[in-house]
Amino acid sequence: MSAGRASRTPVAVLGATGLVGQHLVRLLVHHPWLRLAEVVASDGRAGHLYGDQVTWMAGGDVPADAAALRLKGTDDPLDSPVVLSALPAEIARWLEPELAGRGHRVSSNASAHRMDPYVPLLVPEVNGSDVRRVEGQRWRRAGGALVTNPNCVVSGLAPVLAPLHRTWGVESVTVATLQALSGAGLSGPGALAMAGNVIPWIAGEEEKIAAETRRLVGGEIRMQVAVTRVPVPHGHTAHLFVALAEDPGAGRVGDLLEGLAPPGGVADLPSVPPRTLHVFREAGRPQPLLDVDRGGGMQISVGGVRSVGPRQITLTVLSHNLVRGAAGACLANAELLEVHTGAVPRALVRGTA
Ligand code: NAP
Repeated sequence: MSAGRASRTPVAVLGATGLVGQHLVRLLVHHPWLRLAEVVASDGRAGHLYGDQVTWMAGGDVPADAAALRLKGTDDPLDSPVVLSALPAEIARWLEPELAGRGHRVSSNASAHRMDPYVPLLVPEVNGSDVRRVEGQRWRRAGGALVTNPNCVVSGLAPVLAPLHRTWGVESVTVATLQALSGAGLSGPGALAMAGNVIPWIAGEEEKIAAETRRLVGGEIRMQVAVTRVPVPHGHTAHLFVALAEDPGAGRVGDLLEGLAPPGGVADLPSVPPRTLHVFREAGRPQPLLDVDRGGGMQISVGGVRSVGPRQITLTVLSHNLVRGAAGACLANAELLEVHTGAVPRALVRGTA
């Protein structure tokens, strides 16, 4: 069952002209509970038509309903109860709490509040029940709330590491990433800087990956992280070396990951794929070119699961940075928040499973 257009809850997308914002706009077109009602970008664009201002890169044409919306600026009041934020962190830092304080239910993709103790950092399949922690937020008095999704790499790592930690205890993780160009947004490095090149640094990224993984999976885990930007359009690859407290062997690790399904309640959310991970047993996979769009970009690919010593496992993880790592994650968290706050009726939730 899906709600008719009029009964779908209106949503404002902040940063709607950016790469993540465009994917939010795209994902909302056929959403069963939510509909795009407002688009926000930098103040200079306010009053102009979205369709005239956006450099659309999310596939196909700009959705017609979105193209006809007039952009708002950050000072304009918003009418939509639900806000999806794909703003730069420096704007998100002040605007998101302000909107939550005005009663909006805000799901943020920006890094600004991910480590705030009173803001849940959520991946529905990993810690969806933590959404209830919004009840401690001062904004709830006005009906507002703020939740965040992790960094685009961590969005792929946490659903892999959390079950390993729960089952065999993860002691340490060494991560080396190969991160796509679209991870840097529309103003990322240009063609001359990136064609045939690898840049072994992304500002603040190593710290974010370590801190957010530990917050989601376990604060006691030792993390070492090295990142690179590579000339791949979409899809962040990460090679992991994981030290476990027990020695399950690669076969059991692969079996555990392959069998993962979202927990009850979370499985009913429209943006959560039926299977969290796809595990390749053959060599040479996953690859961004072949595998990034699995599950509409929400399924994470895992391959190369091998034992490399006693209690040492290596594996490769690929996830779509703009979908699983950003827009899809942000939307799934908004759905979780809608269910938690009772804004979407239970019957509708089950009907859209
Ligand atoms: P982007 O392509 O550079 O887009 C940035 C968006 O923010 C644009 O809509 C831009 O509007 C708007 N904006 C910039 N300055 C603004 C201001 N002063 N006031 C209001 N709006 C402003 O960036 P992105 O890649 O979509 O990333 C958006 C957010 O998601 C960032 O916080 C980023 O760290 C995070 N994120 C990105 C990814 C990814 O893979 N790209 C993954 C996870 C998280 P104008 O067009 O008007 O400038």
